Amino acid sequence: MPNTKYIFVTGGVSSSLGKGIIAASLAKLLQSSGFSVTIQKLDPYINIDPGTLNPYEHGECYVTNDGAETDLDLVHYERFLNIPTSQANNVTTGRIYQTVINKERKGDYLGKTVQIIPHITDEIKKRIKLLGETGDYEIIITEIGGTVGDIESLPYIESVRQLRWELGQTNALVIHLTLVPYLAAAKELKTKPTQHSVKELMQSGLSPDILVCRTEHHLNDGIKTKLALFCNVEKEAIIESIDAKTIYDVPNLMLKEGLDKVVLNKLELTAKKSPELVAWNEFLYKFKNPVDTVEIGLIGKYVELQDAYKSILESLGQAGAYNEVKVNIHPIHSAELSKENVENKLEGLNGIIVAPGFGDRGIEGKINAVKYARENKIPFLGICLGMQMAVIEFARNVLHLKNANSTEMDNDTPYPVIDIMEDQKKVTEKGGTMRLGSWDCKIQKESKSYMAYGKESISERHRHRYEFNNNYFDQITKAGLKATGVNPDTGLVEIMELPDHPWFIGVQFHPEYKSTVIDPHPLFLDFIKACILNK
Ligand code: GLN
Repeated sequence: MPNTKYIFVTGGVSSSLGKGIIAASLAKLLQSSGFSVTIQKLDPYINIDPGTLNPYEHGECYVTNDGAETDLDLVHYERFLNIPTSQANNVTTGRIYQTVINKERKGDYLGKTVQIIPHITDEIKKRIKLLGETGDYEIIITEIGGTVGDIESLPYIESVRQLRWELGQTNALVIHLTLVPYLAAAKELKTKPTQHSVKELMQSGLSPDILVCRTEHHLNDGIKTKLALFCNVEKEAIIESIDAKTIYDVPNLMLKEGLDKVVLNKLELTAKKSPELVAWNEFLYKFKNPVDTVEIGLIGKYVELQDAYKSILESLGQAGAYNEVKVNIHPIHSAELSKENVENKLEGLNGIIVAPGFGDRGIEGKINAVKYARENKIPFLGICLGMQMAVIEFARNVLHLKNANSTEMDNDTPYPVIDIMEDQKKVTEKGGTMRLGSWDCKIQKESKSYMAYGKESISERHRHRYEFNNNYFDQITKAGLKATGVNPDTGLVEIMELPDHPWFIGVQFHPEYKSTVIDPHPLFLDFIKACILNK
């Protein structure tokens, strides 16, 4: 595609201002104006990808169709734009350095000193332009992780500085997201942190074209004039981003503020159509006007951290909206669920989800939750580890296979109903070595999953090393826990169901990765429907 335009989003003053949401909202508006858009995240940490990070450090690890383990911001990119992302949409400093160092060893720079400028910055620029070179996008939005002034972000800022001049004034622009705090004692909004943050950016040779200002109160004309004066930004390009009730309001707020218009103007583009968010606003109306509520228990071991289950929470919210109910999520720590207290803790829930996870912390609590859902006929969705726990619970309590387990938790279990995948046995390195990304699954027609999906062939995203042990296939399925979905090539069990239960489904894959605002995931939709019926 000729002349791809590039938008860079940097952050100032504070972290957690929501660069990802602003980038996704702008992308949504540009997409609705008729442009093909994608968003990329550059992360300044040295891990090659977030796959080896504890969710406490960095929230959920998101997985793309092509099996990249990526930053959580890609959740919003896909949710908002309804188009898949890939490895190219998330680059870390680790990956940049790894590429440059590998090239150095191969002799690609023979005779030269390898340096941050130009070698690291060249590699960064290459990664930014890569998406443009696919020819699939007219506009690429690149979000620079971290906050301006961080040592780690410097090579990225320098790369953007170089690119802006290489690409030309109307082909690239910089949006700086900043905070305008309200001092309650003085009853005043303060511009000084933004002035400093823009100064910091300018010290690196980069001046913002647009300021998006996060604020708890409306920015009055005086504040905008002051920001324009001190930050070298036109007043029309100072965009207020006031706190919203839900992230789904932000595209509408940005439309009202005219962010899309300012951007198109500066890039010398004309909107191909007016950016009406019809389907989006239909969803938003339902999201904000539920006619009923459902109570869902989310059993996991990182429940104190919202971001650890970001995609599951969003999928539930979306499925709730389309079912016209508000989903009240009750995070329940699996380590705190014992045989004795499980009834007390789970009573009153209309549905139970057992979350994905790794390692043995809280495992018995998850098994207790599955047993409660199975015996009390409460709709149950087990995701990845949650599905594996459903198999273990069934083996122990229905088939009486004492101490049945996954070899992940107990290598010496007498009944390894969940076992390591054959091709994982030889894997020694941890990074990027799981069964990742999209794999096919064939669904049996006589099943609840088929009812939910309405088709036999599906493809879902994965992230696991262990699987249902097919040595127990006959024993377990004959006793009533049916394998209703399998991988057509390998026979790996993908879906397990209890037909004599109102709704009991365990899936080896992660349906939450594919739910979007416009296309909520069929399994979540059907699960919520079953939870409403269970009320
Ligand atoms: N720990 C399990 C496995 O590796 C489940 C992984 C998950 O829940 N994502 O198979």
